[in-house]
Amino acid sequence: MTYIVKGKTADWELICGLEVHCEIISNAKVFSGASAEFGGLPNTHVAFLDCGMPGQLPVLNEKCIEQCIKTGFGLNAQINKHSVFDRKNYFYGDLPTGYQITQLFYPIVGEGYLDVTDEDGQIKRIGIERLHLEQDAGKSIHDMHPTQSYLDFNRAGVGLMEIVSKPDIRSPEQAGDYLRKLRALVRYLGTCDGNMDEGSMRCDINVSVRKVGEEGYRHRVEIKNVNSIKFVMQAIDLEVHRQIDLYEAGQDFPQETRLFDAVNMETRSMRSKENALDYRYFPDPDLPPVNLTQDYIDNIRENLSELPEAKKKRYMESLGLPEYDARILTSDKETAIYFERALQGASRDPKKVANWVMGDLFAKLNAEYIAIENSPVRPEDLGALIDLINDGTISGKIAKDVFEEMFTSGKSAAAIVEEKGLKQVSDTGAIEAMIAEVLSANMDKVAEIKAGKDKLKGWFVGQIMKASQGKVNPGLANQLLDKKLSEM
Ligand code: MN
Repeated sequence: MTYIVKGKTADWELICGLEVHCEIISNAKVFSGASAEFGGLPNTHVAFLDCGMPGQLPVLNEKCIEQCIKTGFGLNAQINKHSVFDRKNYFYGDLPTGYQITQLFYPIVGEGYLDVTDEDGQIKRIGIERLHLEQDAGKSIHDMHPTQSYLDFNRAGVGLMEIVSKPDIRSPEQAGDYLRKLRALVRYLGTCDGNMDEGSMRCDINVSVRKVGEEGYRHRVEIKNVNSIKFVMQAIDLEVHRQIDLYEAGQDFPQETRLFDAVNMETRSMRSKENALDYRYFPDPDLPPVNLTQDYIDNIRENLSELPEAKKKRYMESLGLPEYDARILTSDKETAIYFERALQGASRDPKKVANWVMGDLFAKLNAEYIAIENSPVRPEDLGALIDLINDGTISGKIAKDVFEEMFTSGKSAAAIVEEKGLKQVSDTGAIEAMIAEVLSANMDKVAEIKAGKDKLKGWFVGQIMKASQGKVNPGLANQLLDKKLSEM
């Protein structure tokens, strides 16, 4: 769907690109041996290098290179055998060295793409410009004391992948889905935990607008560090309208950096936009260029776990699931793991397992705000419940109640069925006795059936189900009812 904003004088379209910073999951920071773990007491995960002390030199952590390459493959991107670290010079309290080590001229990963799904289900391909490896900065804390600022360098020097898209995004929805896809991807790969609320995935948004049909680009505004997908979508929409209003009032605006204020629902000016020259980039003399062999790259590719798109394709082609089911079940790694464990290879019907996961399980998890990996019903137990329906031990209807009970008690399906005596009655003698009883109590209706009112049979089956508390197999009840009626 095209996102067109109707102005007073023209129809406008959005031009948007995203720069996403992803903190790399690694045993250590990118150039020091300090812990890269989130949290910890302030300034406890810090090597001298991270806080700008002289006398230590950066040493590249190979794990970070591997993580960038994995992510590059996930983005269908070019892996560059030759990459170089540059210094980006700027002064800020949380950057004690006075520069950030990054990659400007030769990034480790080049062009690629990520496919997103638009509101109307259309696939839109978003180009990836590059992925480069850099250091994170520390954190300034301003709200502990009215006149003092504090610095925590635990985050300083943690490896970051900056993933830069091309300006291919044309609607807030596409931006939202791009971030969802990217987050699912890095989580699948285990290269970033994707937690936007802990700041391990942060988004800068580049927004400009132009009249529909216009060529080229107008002034671009960058909105810094937006930390939720919802906020990204809101910020884009607000900024689009602000820019259109200014243009239509005959005003222009500067190329600048703004911030998004979710409380007042506005974007506000932070500073004028810097360009690369302002940072006086130059190759870092402390670090040699990174030169990778084809064997090294191939080895990482061969050991890559199955990516979401490939998994979705496999669910459709070899498990025979509809596109919708495959998309939902692969939308995050935890759901896919749950589904596959509940399915246990190919021994259970994939569609039945998918229905249970996406139906009853999702409903309960959502209602109680429980993440699927913490589900009180383990995937193996859900699979066993489905087996009980398949082998005729319980009816589908009883299974729903059993599932509820499993969810609250954590017990297995078999234990609940046993405890509550929920086994389906398949003893024909017992069912026939039940039918005889129901029929003799309703002879008037039997007469009506005999007179041709066939519809009443359904009513009798209902009565039999009721009398057995749902434990009779409805097919069998129907069959025996017919038999009994024909004998009357
Ligand atoms: Mn950056």
